[in-house]
Amino acid sequence: MTLLVIFINSIKEKAFHVFGTSKRSINMYREVEESQTLLINTQSKILAGQNKKVIKLGFGQSPFLPPKAVLETLKKAVHHKEYSSVQGDLELRELMAKFHKRHNGLEVEPDNILVAPGSKILIYNVLLAFEKADVFIPAPAWVSYGPQAKLAGHHIIKVPTSFEERWRVSAKTLNKAAESKQHKASILIFNYPGNPDGLTYEEQELIELAKATKSLDMLVIADEIYGLLDHNFSHLSFANYYPERTITTTGLSKWCGAGGWRFGAAFLYKNIEPALKKALIGIGSETYSCAPTPVQMAAKTAYKDYEETKAYLDYQIRILKQIGNFCADRLGASGIRVHSPQGGFYLFPDFSQHKERLNNRGIKTSAQLCQLLLKETGVALLPASAFGFEDEYLAARLAYVDFQEPGEEQDFDLNTDCPNIIEGIEKICKYIGR
Ligand code: GLU
Repeated sequence: MTLLVIFINSIKEKAFHVFGTSKRSINMYREVEESQTLLINTQSKILAGQNKKVIKLGFGQSPFLPPKAVLETLKKAVHHKEYSSVQGDLELRELMAKFHKRHNGLEVEPDNILVAPGSKILIYNVLLAFEKADVFIPAPAWVSYGPQAKLAGHHIIKVPTSFEERWRVSAKTLNKAAESKQHKASILIFNYPGNPDGLTYEEQELIELAKATKSLDMLVIADEIYGLLDHNFSHLSFANYYPERTITTTGLSKWCGAGGWRFGAAFLYKNIEPALKKALIGIGSETYSCAPTPVQMAAKTAYKDYEETKAYLDYQIRILKQIGNFCADRLGASGIRVHSPQGGFYLFPDFSQHKERLNNRGIKTSAQLCQLLLKETGVALLPASAFGFEDEYLAARLAYVDFQEPGEEQDFDLNTDCPNIIEGIEKICKYIGR
């Protein structure tokens, strides 16, 4: 009998080695797709490499160069090859705290700032710091929140919003969503100016929402990465309305045009539970160790001189506002519903009024629409399905970033500086609009 068991086990073992690969691929690994944002970037680059003209309105990457002084600091800092502390350079954190206090009255102690290689990993690490939580994610919301919450093993609760309500989360929808809670801990991931909608919140809306998050005892991750690109330069931080439990995330990727530098920060709240702060620093130390030191040096320059940074931002905002409004007006004139942008560099046009015509052409989902649009016109957009909508909802995100910046000294001229965007919008209108 014993010999028989040994024999069977040895056959099993052999079988495992022979068929190991296919056996392993069945269910040993997590199912994780490449993020839709990075995928569209790669696809657009591949097509461009095949000499196909691609109008890149899919990936949300700033076309602006960081300010000259920031570039110079980075060049001079290459020899800083040492690690920093996990939380980041203290002088930098002091500068960031001062900058945001002056900019929008955000109060944060330098000791409550965490600097990391991008705010994306910080959002993920906040989620990881919880054993089990309900994670409330509005629809639409940025593509990575859902996959991150899933990776962290949490229960996702969608918070629906609508075009008519300008994609805003309200106290009412949040309370309704909270009826499907399963766990003690609740986290809301909340982003404005919005990716994908380019819209922001009025103060009264923030006050109402803060009351709801407080009564639901939620931890809020306020992703304010586009805050400094508010088109009126008047971004209101959620932490000012819900200081008890808001973690604000920001970074250099969008306003400073330095996405590839990977620099992000999280501002923790004053009375953060010591166990949560410890977990965040612990997870950082066990994963990324620290943000790249030379980039931290460059960030010091970016956050040092408020007036200089403001001038750089005024210049960007002037251009982004003009382009965003042009795109929204032109799409609107062609019968495509879209809100005029208030911050950042996205629009979220809704094509559902053209559904019947698109359906008749065999286009049933937003993904099909984007695939065909790319194939037939060369215009890259990101489908609404990537932002938490059902496949059949015909909308897409348009990142109006395919232009060259004119340079701070030169006047910006929409007609001469944005040929790709103008061409792309015309193509969308012709393909979808009336
Ligand atoms: N925020 C960018 C976008 O939504 C992409 C950055 C990233 O996915 O890391 O297109």
